[in-house]
Amino acid sequence: MLMFIKSHALVSSILFMLLLSGSSYAITYDLVIKNGRVIDPETGLDSTRWLGIQSGKITKISKSYLQGTKVIDATGLVVAPGFIDLHAHGQFLPSARLQAFDGVTTALELEAGVLEISKFYNNIAKEGRPINYGASASWAMARATVLDNASYNGVPGEVLGVFKLPNWSTKLATQNQQTEVIAIIEKSLNAGALGIGIMTGYSPNSNRKEYYKLHKLAAKYNVPSFNHIRFASSLEPKSSFEAYQELISVAASTGAHAHISHLNSTSFRDIEDVAELVLGAQKQGVNISVEAYPYAAGSTAIGAQMFRGTNWKERLGNVSESDFSFNGTTLTAQSFKTLQEEKPSSIIIFNYLDPEHSDKDQHLYEISQLFPNGAVASDGLPMIDINTKKVISGDVWPLPKSAKTHPRAAGSYSRFIRQFVKEDKSLTLIEAIRKMSLIPAQILEKSVDQMRHKGRIQEGADADIVIFDFSQISDRATFTNPVLTSVGMQAVIVNGTPIIENRKLIKSALPGKPIRRAIK
Ligand SMILES: [Zn+2]
Repeated sequence: MLMFIKSHALVSSILFMLLLSGSSYAITYDLVIKNGRVIDPETGLDSTRWLGIQSGKITKISKSYLQGTKVIDATGLVVAPGFIDLHAHGQFLPSARLQAFDGVTTALELEAGVLEISKFYNNIAKEGRPINYGASASWAMARATVLDNASYNGVPGEVLGVFKLPNWSTKLATQNQQTEVIAIIEKSLNAGALGIGIMTGYSPNSNRKEYYKLHKLAAKYNVPSFNHIRFASSLEPKSSFEAYQELISVAASTGAHAHISHLNSTSFRDIEDVAELVLGAQKQGVNISVEAYPYAAGSTAIGAQMFRGTNWKERLGNVSESDFSFNGTTLTAQSFKTLQEEKPSSIIIFNYLDPEHSDKDQHLYEISQLFPNGAVASDGLPMIDINTKKVISGDVWPLPKSAKTHPRAAGSYSRFIRQFVKEDKSLTLIEAIRKMSLIPAQILEKSVDQMRHKGRIQEGADADIVIFDFSQISDRATFTNPVLTSVGMQAVIVNGTPIIENRKLIKSALPGKPIRRAIK
């Protein structure tokens, strides 16, 4: 009897020493995510796991118990890499918080871009962000600097000012002016810009050679260009199809990686032919990537050139004024005309497809959304307070009822899961998550090392993680109520720190980091 007690004590003490000497039980992680359905789109993992997080990284993925200083119970919930938005114009604190409820852990301004790059990163770092942030170099602003004598201070939202300037958007640049524009972009790339944002769509008559030279520069620096293509029309000449051909030609000729922003809203009812053209170029080895936002309505200024001219309605796929709304009210031919004449900068909603009432339009909608290896990106615009007419910025939360924007700023990612995984069942959950996390990371990772550690749930990856209830996840934002937060996000973690927990925003948590290329 005495012997038995002694040996039992011996076994216990050996076990205790083993624990101390480095078996996994001995490690206490900063944060443990317990027992969730862990999905990693790169390795194909879709199984119950525990995650151990230390110093902002996922350091352990285990089938069994891990010990943590803090533990989040994910039993019955999906644990996936945080969503990466390549097209986020709302580089403001309230916009970032709104997107956090939609599962976005990295939001980048790549299509419009910013100037000056260093000032932009400094401005955001000073205020702090719950999610990661970054930007490309803005061709529109570089062009406005040279052709309109504009100057910029890296203030978020500053790019909206270009729409009031006359020259950059209408004039050809001389050789010298083109050289100056390219020099501004090159300086921005050396300051760590993530690529070149090129909105030829808002300057359709700008130089073809300038567009080509921008891609030569992109190739030299091995960064992508992010393109709002030159034309928006189903009719030739000056068709969307022609604009995509131009993009393909410069990518093929220079070897640059050209990224197509919002494939959906620059293709309209011509998407079948456009998709075939782009897929064909990709098959030939031309380096092109694609994104779309999951709505059949766009949003821009009513004064834009695409809504002018004799046959503009035909060019946009036979639309009519009643396909437009302003502040929730459907426009008529007369109210459209009045608004365009009197307040051309008014941001309208434009229903370019009608999938609810037309099977054909639903089919066209799906082509852009399910494009092979296409990313989901929001194209989210800043929120405007319709009482003050100002952008909603600063430490504002909850959002005022007077906040207006396109609902894509609030609901793109949850909506994509709702529409294509839960309702249409055209994608599995892991495929949808791949389009929202891994694919956008891969679009950037050849030029930005940081992105190799994002979009993945793997040991060594950054702990940017969403934990959500699949049965409940959904967008709520609508065109009349556009800033309602998405639902179903139990927790959102950025660089190891929860910013949403128990479905509530932690206002003081600002763990977002800059995503930036090395500075030369
Ligand atoms: Zn755009």
